[in-house]
Amino acid sequence: MFRMLAFAHGALFSPRTPVSVRMSSTIVDKKGILADKVALITGSTQGIGFAIAQRLAKDGAHVVVSSRKQQNVDRAVALLKEEGLSAKGMVCHAGKAEDRDKLVTMVADQYGGVDFLICAAAVNPIVGSTLGASEQVWDKILDVNVKSPALLLAQLLPYMEKRGSSSVVLVSSATGYVPVPKLGPYNISKTALLGLTKTLAVELAPKGIRVNCLVPGLIKTDFSHTLQEDEAFVNSLKNLCGMQRIGQPEDCAGIVSFLCSPDASYITGENIVVAGFSPKL
Ligand code: NAP
Repeated sequence: MFRMLAFAHGALFSPRTPVSVRMSSTIVDKKGILADKVALITGSTQGIGFAIAQRLAKDGAHVVVSSRKQQNVDRAVALLKEEGLSAKGMVCHAGKAEDRDKLVTMVADQYGGVDFLICAAAVNPIVGSTLGASEQVWDKILDVNVKSPALLLAQLLPYMEKRGSSSVVLVSSATGYVPVPKLGPYNISKTALLGLTKTLAVELAPKGIRVNCLVPGLIKTDFSHTLQEDEAFVNSLKNLCGMQRIGQPEDCAGIVSFLCSPDASYITGENIVVAGFSPKL
């Protein structure tokens, strides 16, 4: 059995590998699998969104980062540029129509359109019972977490359609499958994103646009600070998944690059969990 595996491995990677195959992978390595593509990432000046922007840029894409605060945008762009990556940034509160308008105008003017849209922006202004949430809290969570990806994508659609092989990645959460108590409206918004992914995937497939969803578990960022400090919660998670660590933002980045790449050209409507375990069958 092991000898067979060793043989297969040897056959694939030995110097006998056809020259054309080795040359083409060298070319891809040098230029990056996402070379010359344009990626727009919301909520991307730190945490998971930033790690995704950094990875897409390392894989060759021009990235546009955005978030609510100018100083955060400036810092993120500077960090990316220090690494020699192609990046621009703009303030965009994902829930504000006028900010989304400006962002769309910017990518249209600067890049003539966009190939990839990654929607990482989300809010959770409440810790408490679902039925105790005010209408304002519901509106804020649904506006930013669920409606804004759909509204932004609607505005970008004419540009993405023209590109021929565009890709959208929404960012849900494992709480969309397994609700965390006291995060009710947030959990629900993340379940809604799983459905949004499925519906948009079917609607946009004929236009050459794939729509998939990243579903992170507990990832070490400012957003999950309270959960990380809850020792009982973290221990129960470690017992459930077996993996004795929580995730890092970078754990979420490679899969997004893959989903944007030609290697994923037959994958759409998929919700992919990055949680050290999977709540799906
Ligand atoms: P994070 O480290 O706190 O980063 C959030 C980013 O979004 C920041 O750049 C922030 O910058 C920006 N942002 C916040 N509100 C925004 C808004 N209304 N419009 C635009 N940008 C906004 O959070 P994260 O953990 O990376 O979370 C990213 C995504 O992953 C979210 O969708 C979250 O639901 C999801 N997620 C996280 C975890 C986790 O354990 N961390 C688990 C599952 C899912 P500004 O302050 O400048 O706006």
